[in-house]
Amino acid sequence: MATEVQISERGTEFAADDHQMLIGGDWVNAASGKTFETYDPATGENLGTVPQGSSEDIDRAVRTARAAFESGPWATMKPSERGRIMHKIGDLVLDNGEELATLETLDNGKPYAVALAADVPLTADLFHYMSGWCTKNGGSTISPNVPYMPDAEWHAYTLHEPVGVVGQIIPWNFPLLMAAWKLGPALACGCTVVMKPAEQTPLSCLRLGEIMLEAGLPEGVVNIVTGFGEEAGAPLAAHDDVDKIAFTGSTEVGKIILQAAAGNLKKVSLELGGKSPNIVYADSELETAIPGAANAIFFNHGQCCAAGSRLFVQEKIYDDVVAGVADHAKNIKVGPGSNADTEMGPLVSQEQLDRVTGFLESGETEGAETVAGGKRHGDRGYFVEPTVLAGTNPKMKVEAEEIFGPVVTVKPFKDVDELTSAANASAYGLAAGIWTNNLSLAHRTAKRIKAGTVWVNCYNVFDASLPFGGYKQSGWGREMGAEALELYTEVKSVVTQI
Ligand code: ADP
Repeated sequence: MATEVQISERGTEFAADDHQMLIGGDWVNAASGKTFETYDPATGENLGTVPQGSSEDIDRAVRTARAAFESGPWATMKPSERGRIMHKIGDLVLDNGEELATLETLDNGKPYAVALAADVPLTADLFHYMSGWCTKNGGSTISPNVPYMPDAEWHAYTLHEPVGVVGQIIPWNFPLLMAAWKLGPALACGCTVVMKPAEQTPLSCLRLGEIMLEAGLPEGVVNIVTGFGEEAGAPLAAHDDVDKIAFTGSTEVGKIILQAAAGNLKKVSLELGGKSPNIVYADSELETAIPGAANAIFFNHGQCCAAGSRLFVQEKIYDDVVAGVADHAKNIKVGPGSNADTEMGPLVSQEQLDRVTGFLESGETEGAETVAGGKRHGDRGYFVEPTVLAGTNPKMKVEAEEIFGPVVTVKPFKDVDELTSAANASAYGLAAGIWTNNLSLAHRTAKRIKAGTVWVNCYNVFDASLPFGGYKQSGWGREMGAEALELYTEVKSVVTQI
């Protein structure tokens, strides 16, 4: 019997509540009075109920965010005061880390130790990092030429102003951290927000709402409307009084968001899918490259948009690397996130289980060779075996499409030319990994790969200071780093003839 780890009692109690959502400073039910259940993916059992928001609730939240933007204390607050509140949010995330990690484990399924070591501190760090930008997102002075007024003199500068009321729609794979990635830069720039968490994992975002109020965030600056994509997300994306919509999720829904945003031409940023190549050269250190390649795909059960789901291995070491990664896959301890020895938890939902096992079946039908895993794990909860597939080609669904589960395809390559054309033969361009001891080869490959992030001799390294986002159909814009501020900033040129 695996031992249960000490998940937090406060977290368990919070999860079991009948929840309300946050509009203004109030915790409210949906206007319709409807609710839905959120489930523990390790068991399929109900955790608690959540309001089922719809367009009426979105309208109300947008009105509240508009009032907070135009005339609330947020509008006139000094940048340093905004920064202090944001820093306090980060502090309180750390103070309540065990409770928040528990909510991630219960609602999303990820191992508690991982949520506590990664999701919680990364969330806190994001708020801490972004709090510093409140005082630094300034414009610049400019020296215009104006050739048709040769004798005039000018004083010109840019102002950086907040974009306004922002809608933010987030996914279920890192519920708390995705909320932070979105809220951090929006708040640092002085925007107000209506956030819709994923219907599968609303709990940690609601708890974060409490934390933000406790930190002193004025009422109405962040509003949280829980509900389903088509019922609550779609009206937010289409809303005429929303100035910008930021979305993280599937490429398919990203395209729907884009169309919905066309009505008032609101600004759009999208962080979408990936099918990221992870490249192991023959001269790499296999002791780090093999576990690195396994971690690249199996971390968070493969439910990472940046997962290294296409593994390319140079011919000479192909057999060793495939055997090594398969060995890792077979030894990963799969189980509920609340068990102390669990290394990989369940997928988030029945829908994801069906989707991922559907891919596995298609791989088998299309002739892929299963080197490890290949099927559902157990018969309770939504677990899938860590899977390694060889002998695939780009026409097969398993190699062409994003699976969003613990499934990697492995292929041999001869040289850098063959490699880069194969690695770039994807509709996506989110991330890539390169394993080699040859510095020039690493940087030459990094230059050639069409991806927003390239990791060399590491994988899945995220930091509040590192911009993250995609080329091609992996999205528009960059989250985190200084670049994230651009998504929430309007630039105004002010020109004076002097
Ligand atoms: P996944 O396929 O991984 O569940 P989705 O892209 O469907 O990811 O969902 C990510 C987020 O987008 C969730 O918060 C979901 O509710 C929301 N969403 C889904 N469909 C729509 C839609 N048509 N309009 C707006 N938001 C949506």
